Amino acid sequence: MSVPKYSIIPKPRKYEAFEDTYTVTCQTAVLCVPEFKKAGVYLSNFLKTDKNAGDGAIKFKTDSSVPAEFYRLKINKDGITVSASDERGAFYGAVTLKIMLLQSKDGTGKAVLNSAEIFDGPRYSHRGAMLDESRHFFGKEAVKRLLDEMAMLKLNKFHWHLSDDQGYRIESEVFPLLNEISSKRKYEFLGGDKLLGFMKASGEEYFHYYKKSEIREIVEYADSLCIDIIPEIDMPGHTVALIAAYNELSCRKNGCEPLCENGITEEILCAGQEKTYEFCEKLLAEVCELFPYKYFHLGGDEASRGFKIYEKECPECQKVMNENNLKDGAQLQELFVNRINAILKKYGKRAIEWNDGIGDITDKDITCHYWINRSRGWLKKQASIRKFIVSPVSHFYFDMSYARIPLKKIYNFDPVKAGLAGLEDRVIGTEFETWTEWITDENAVQFSVFPRIYAMAENAWTEFENRNYRDFYRRLEFFKSYMRAKNINYSRVEKGSYKAKNRTSYSLGKFGSEYKLSEKLKEKEQK
Ligand SMILES: [Zn+2]
Repeated sequence: MSVPKYSIIPKPRKYEAFEDTYTVTCQTAVLCVPEFKKAGVYLSNFLKTDKNAGDGAIKFKTDSSVPAEFYRLKINKDGITVSASDERGAFYGAVTLKIMLLQSKDGTGKAVLNSAEIFDGPRYSHRGAMLDESRHFFGKEAVKRLLDEMAMLKLNKFHWHLSDDQGYRIESEVFPLLNEISSKRKYEFLGGDKLLGFMKASGEEYFHYYKKSEIREIVEYADSLCIDIIPEIDMPGHTVALIAAYNELSCRKNGCEPLCENGITEEILCAGQEKTYEFCEKLLAEVCELFPYKYFHLGGDEASRGFKIYEKECPECQKVMNENNLKDGAQLQELFVNRINAILKKYGKRAIEWNDGIGDITDKDITCHYWINRSRGWLKKQASIRKFIVSPVSHFYFDMSYARIPLKKIYNFDPVKAGLAGLEDRVIGTEFETWTEWITDENAVQFSVFPRIYAMAENAWTEFENRNYRDFYRRLEFFKSYMRAKNINYSRVEKGSYKAKNRTSYSLGKFGSEYKLSEKLKEKEQK
């Protein structure tokens, strides 16, 4: 008879289970080489290891033959060993062990583990999660809770969208108006859509930003979980909140206020005047200083409504276009982005940009964040010259309804099969996006993200050939009980309904039919 295996998500590369067992208690010491301290601390915190525990029985050791981010986990009657060549590999070994221990607890403070040998490592180096805190703000503790769950799934990049039309969310000592004006909107947009015939908004002023000390605390917390943070300051479009405070940065200089509602505007940073670049350099220098990771997201999406201002209204922009022989506003945006890229490099950063801003003259060292369809020709050309992170709106936008993006669709998506065949080595990873126009609080964030994050994690970690949806869905059962125990408000709706599909592609947060149905199902479960 074969020994049953633990439910592990993301699925490991190789996993063999054996007959004998090993028992772990709070007396079981964790022995760890100093370079793997994060893994040791993570596991000891979970086990609540007694400080006076005796001989180590869970051992972390270095093994240079194990590839980067990989680990080898051996459990037998004599003890547990995790071998890795780097800190991240060791950490992922600790995470897998934690998931096995959670499934082995006997309620008396002991966990009897079945023996196993696991050899595991990721498909992609970028396994990302994005949270938009410009449209809505959730705060430090909510972010830490999301980071905790990312770590449990070996996701390693937290993309933090901190500036958009609706608000700038970082304390600024260099430009204090960014907080006094850009961090504040007159009221909070709660949900609905003009097209759908209903709108909901609170009457209260919405005023939020992170203190620098809070950001440093979150960066440090993420680092303890082997997660890098990639901040995003979106430009030259999606800058209404910035322009509201520093009107001289725009082409029109007409004055505006941080946006309360949703949508895309024409407002755009002027790419023809030097003072825009001087402002951006000071701003980016201040932000870069807070985030140690080398990558920085400069946005660059949905600026095209402003191109007619570049082309027809702004003399400064027209002058620069003529001097540089640029054919249109899109190319002026590319020039702008290249100059921002040069600034970021000065501060030791590498840039990431959304794909709709990328064209023929965009610097080759800018990583493309692919979200929206472009022509096959564009895709082939760009993928031949730059790195790609893949987040198609059709599969990885978790603000969309479950009817539009059910679990299975996320799980079965493969970047290579979606048009990047032959350029496999250009794809550094996949990432899900949580835009929050309709998502108003942490419960609604959790509804949109969970359980989809599990499908996403396996998508990013596990080789396509090793994936099987039915098997995944069976393993998800354990994680549902885990989420209930942790009081995570995961969606009980996994496929969505026909009705919801007809209504809109967006999940309308708490006002949406899917959210309400999930609440009802949750109540039933608790009875
Ligand atoms: Zn201009």
